[in-house]
Amino acid sequence: MIGKIRSIPLKILILRALLRRLPKNHPKRIHISEELSRREAGYNSEEYLDTLIEHLLGSKFIIFHDLNFSDGKSTYQIDNLLISPQLALIIEVKNMTGELTFDSINDQFYQKVGDKIKGYSDPVTQVQRHQTYINKLLAENNFPPVPVDYLIVINNTNAVLVFQGTSSEVRKRICKSHSFHKKVHLIENSHLENILSKKNLRKLSRLLLKNNTPPTNSILKQYEIKVSDLLTGVLCPLCIHKPMIRKKKKWFCPSCKEYSSDAHILALMDYFLLFGTTITNQQFRKFAQIDSPDTSRRILLSMNLKGTGTYKGRTYHPETVPW
Ligand SMILES: [Zn+2]
Repeated sequence: MIGKIRSIPLKILILRALLRRLPKNHPKRIHISEELSRREAGYNSEEYLDTLIEHLLGSKFIIFHDLNFSDGKSTYQIDNLLISPQLALIIEVKNMTGELTFDSINDQFYQKVGDKIKGYSDPVTQVQRHQTYINKLLAENNFPPVPVDYLIVINNTNAVLVFQGTSSEVRKRICKSHSFHKKVHLIENSHLENILSKKNLRKLSRLLLKNNTPPTNSILKQYEIKVSDLLTGVLCPLCIHKPMIRKKKKWFCPSCKEYSSDAHILALMDYFLLFGTTITNQQFRKFAQIDSPDTSRRILLSMNLKGTGTYKGRTYHPETVPW
């Protein structure tokens, strides 16, 4: 059963928004473009593994693809979380080619392609962090102590795995996608006791979806980008990087002279992806460069957003993000 499908991961939407809002000559652009391409390539090849997981395990587990949690201090992006009466299983997927070294002595992970070596954050450390988070979430919400296990899947037939000082306990949890079915059975067979009732599973599903919060506004901190570096304004859908002007109840582009009636939608989306999931009239006016509070209010009211508070203190927020 599928608890949550994979849509375009939020991180990708956020990086796209960030590139729309960063000036052309900003020094972080290259780095962010690279990160975006890597994630887009990963997203495209994840479909195969999603199908494999659903086909092999869909009858036994409730499957959640792409969950994002935050405990206020850190964020946790989990590729796949599967829950059953016996087990909660995190499946972390890496779509990387070349020689991939898991260096457990130094908690390092690096990729060698040709004679180029590049380091990445260590998937073992990453997945163990997620494991700790899920354990804590279960305990805090008084669930019976169901084991939380993990599997790291390298989803690229050309990759070669190299282990340095990796314990057998960790090694048996790392595999390539063609041996996924064997590894997953080994893990399943080591957790046979029914611990979560059907009611527990329903409650846990609701909790996971409720806590699935988008990783917005942490991205600027992560890349050390100042809010003042970002371009404001409603961007022209045709020539981007140029703020549009409100004219005749539409948006007018001073550069390509075109009108748009809905260019503010993308601007609002960028705001929710980069700054946070609520906006006030004043914030929207400043961001979209609108002079009139009435115009700004009319636009916000037309956007099918939820509102709380009254008058000047009113905030608007989308029901879900991505919106
Ligand atoms: Zn234009």
